[in-house]
Amino acid sequence: MVILVVRIGGNERMVENSLPKRLREYRDLSDGELTQLIEGNEYEDELMEEADAVRRLHYGTDVYIRGLIELTNYCKNDCYYCGIRKGNGQLTRYRLSMEDVLACCATGYELGFRTFVLQGGEDLYFTDERICEVVAAIRSRHPDCAITLSLGEKSYEGYLAFYEAGATRYLLRHETANPEHYGKLHPSTMDGGNRQRCLWDIKKIGYQVGSGFMVGSPYQTTACLLEDVRFLQELNPDMIGIGPYLSHKDTPFAHHANGDLHKCLRLVSILRLLFPHALIPATTALGTIDERGRERGLLAGANVVMPNLSPTNVRSLYSLYDNKIHTMEEAAESRRALERRAASIGYRVVTHVGHVKRD
Ligand code: SAH
Repeated sequence: MVILVVRIGGNERMVENSLPKRLREYRDLSDGELTQLIEGNEYEDELMEEADAVRRLHYGTDVYIRGLIELTNYCKNDCYYCGIRKGNGQLTRYRLSMEDVLACCATGYELGFRTFVLQGGEDLYFTDERICEVVAAIRSRHPDCAITLSLGEKSYEGYLAFYEAGATRYLLRHETANPEHYGKLHPSTMDGGNRQRCLWDIKKIGYQVGSGFMVGSPYQTTACLLEDVRFLQELNPDMIGIGPYLSHKDTPFAHHANGDLHKCLRLVSILRLLFPHALIPATTALGTIDERGRERGLLAGANVVMPNLSPTNVRSLYSLYDNKIHTMEEAAESRRALERRAASIGYRVVTHVGHVKRD
């Protein structure tokens, strides 16, 4: 705690300046102070209030919606935490056709979505050329929409080609900034440094860039989370996605405990105060760990939600973790439910394209 001496009406007064208030004011804190906020202390409620105030300052009560289209659950990678990892022999694999994707976009457009997010495993079928074809087809049918990709690690040339085809945003969570921790979550064939290289390439090309990490992934320490925050400060992304780690029964981490809801909410608030303008989703993982997790995320400073627009018959197959929500709901239904949920806590779903706001 820091005590400031201020002069009010000629009298000197001692004023306590709390950690959340200082984080809001300086957009930074020392490692020790951030550790206290991450681990939780008496300032938890105030942290969320400050974060909500900053979010309202820049984005009002608007909640931006993004239609998530889960392109493929084939993946060449074997991340130990992820249910669609290559090594999961229990999973029925699928990939959407061009017609499927365009049908999802058409439905989404009718419902007011103006951003489509194509997410998927690193599926070798989807070469750079095929990805460009999909992007270009969406771009020509929906010139007023933003196209976001979340398809993993590619070459600089690949990212550039997608950008030229019409994608303008890219989501790639760095997962963990600590190399040793990265090594515990991934096989040795994967390299956290390459993932970070991708993020810098994406930024250089001119995309709005999104990164992030799981909260409570196996072997994660508070020091790891601090490194994550420091890495994000360096990258200065436009979008930041975080959610609790959730176990999946058919992965090597099946028996690791889920991440903690409250720690995740504290981190949402900390990120809002560090990055006042960032687009921060209340993620599906938050909504999975707690029935009202996404509302809680919005109240903690998030301002985006990404409902599922994938065809209902494939939704249960894009199983990153167990019990993923809304597996059977139709897009229109979940869109209405979302509106009600946002309204119940005083926010409003808006349907414009929802770009990041900068100073
Ligand atoms: N192949 C893409 C998309 C990965 S899935 C890519 O590499 O970016 C999107 C995100 O889901 C991942 O970045 C990861 O942070 C998250 N995720 C994966 N498995 C998870 C789990 N078991 N619990 C919580 N989040 C998970």
